[in-house]
Amino acid sequence: MPEDLENRLTRKSAPYTDKTCDLCGATGAAKPMAGANIDACMDCMNTMPNSLVACWREIAELRERNDEMSDVVDSVSSTLGIGSKARTKETILTNIDNMKRFTELLHSMERQFFMVPGAPDEEYPDDEPEPVCLLNSWGSTPDEYLRQLGHALREKQSVAVEDYAAALHCWLKEQPGNPPKEFVDGVYHAAEQAERHAKRLRTPDTDANRA
Ligand SMILES: [Zn+2]
Repeated sequence: MPEDLENRLTRKSAPYTDKTCDLCGATGAAKPMAGANIDACMDCMNTMPNSLVACWREIAELRERNDEMSDVVDSVSSTLGIGSKARTKETILTNIDNMKRFTELLHSMERQFFMVPGAPDEEYPDDEPEPVCLLNSWGSTPDEYLRQLGHALREKQSVAVEDYAAALHCWLKEQPGNPPKEFVDGVYHAAEQAERHAKRLRTPDTDANRA
C-alpha cells in the first residue's frame, strides 16, 4: 500500500480497540485497525486492491461527514430549544424563520422610533452625522436592553411634555385682548411644571422615572 494512503487510513489515533474487522473478524485489540470510521483491519486493507481501499475510504469519509452534520443539527436544535424527538428539517427551518422574522420586527421598530442624530465626526465636521440607535440589541444583555428601552421611552415622554409646555406658551400668546393676570400666571405656572417634569424624566433614578 502506498505510504500516503496508509497514513490517511491511520490518521485517526489508533488502536480502536472497540472495533471489529468486517472482513476477517479480528478485534481492534488483536490487530491494528484501519481507521475511526473503517470497520477493517490494516492486514485486510493491505491485501485489497487499491480501488476497493478507495471505496472503503470514501465510505469512512461520508460517515465522518454524517457524524459532523448530526452534531450541527443537534447543536442548532438545542440552541433553538427543539426537543430531540422534534428535530426535523421542517421544525428547524420554521424555528429559524420565526427567529428571523422577530429579529426583523425588532430592528424595524428600533429604526422607526429610536434613532437619534449621532455625534459629528471630528475628521469630517461638515458631514451630516450618522444616526445612532438608542437601543443596542447586539451588545446588550436582556437587562441592559430593557434599561436602554426605559431610558429611550422616558426621553420620548420628556420631549412630548416639553412640546406641551411650548404649546401652552403659544396658546397664551394667541389669546385675544388682555387676559387677567391670574389666568396668565396660571398658564405660566402650568408650563413651568411641565418643563420641570420633563427634566425629572431625563434624570436617572428619580421617583418620576423609577419603573
Ligand atoms: Zn481483517
